[in-house]
Amino acid sequence: MKQSVMMIVGNWKMNGLADSLGGLVADLIDGLEKRSICARVVLCPPATLIERVARAVEGHAIAVGGQDCRAEASGAFTGDVSAPMLADAGASWVILGHSERRQGHGEGDDDVRAKLEGALKAGLKPIVCVGETLAEREDGRAGAVVAAQVRASLPDGLVDADFALAYEPVWAIGTGRTPTLEEIAEIHDTARRAMVERLGQGASTAPILYGGSVNAANAGEILGVAGVDGALVGGASLKAADFLAIVAAAEPARVAVAGQQ
Ligand code: PEP
Repeated sequence: MKQSVMMIVGNWKMNGLADSLGGLVADLIDGLEKRSICARVVLCPPATLIERVARAVEGHAIAVGGQDCRAEASGAFTGDVSAPMLADAGASWVILGHSERRQGHGEGDDDVRAKLEGALKAGLKPIVCVGETLAEREDGRAGAVVAAQVRASLPDGLVDADFALAYEPVWAIGTGRTPTLEEIAEIHDTARRAMVERLGQGASTAPILYGGSVNAANAGEILGVAGVDGALVGGASLKAADFLAIVAAAEPARVAVAGQQ
């Protein structure tokens, strides 16, 4: 079943300095309030900016998230950031298992699950990323890969309110390429089934976001796909006008109509 309120997450990746922040966040707040858009919006800036962004959005309907965290709460892990640290800085969400972590830092499903447990202990809600590589898709294994990642990345006892899943085909991230709408629908359905199989009916309403080259032009049709409950947006989240257009495309009335097609 499609969620009535869409969730739109902006992943700024390793972009942004204090100087460049004010304009972007102020424009987003202004745009969201002017259009009274009804969507759950989460901004995930780099760790160095979480506290500033959290302060800037205080009192507005925008939440803040981290882009990764260590599983442990503290210790001798030079350069890493823990979930309690993210929460302390003002985050309420954290992205885990992004393909840039899985591929660039060798993180596997076990790491993602451990981080997820650390995040929940700190009161953060995880956004767990899964997705196939191009070779896996070309081999016809996209569904199997995603289902396996879902099963292995989610710990026992996770309930709906605690997390979101993001289907992010690795080959679509930052490339301008996206799967067809039918392919997106098919994998979202597979991911939902794997979640329910893993966690029981309690997992039937946790949002499943699509991520990978979502932009102002394609957001409306992607968000209208059955089983898509929102978007995880990288590049386009760095431009206020583009991100606002994506959030606007998530308006419930529009999505409800498109979702019936
Ligand atoms: C991402 O970083 O999760 C992402 C989907 O990036 P982009 O929107 O730039 O493809």
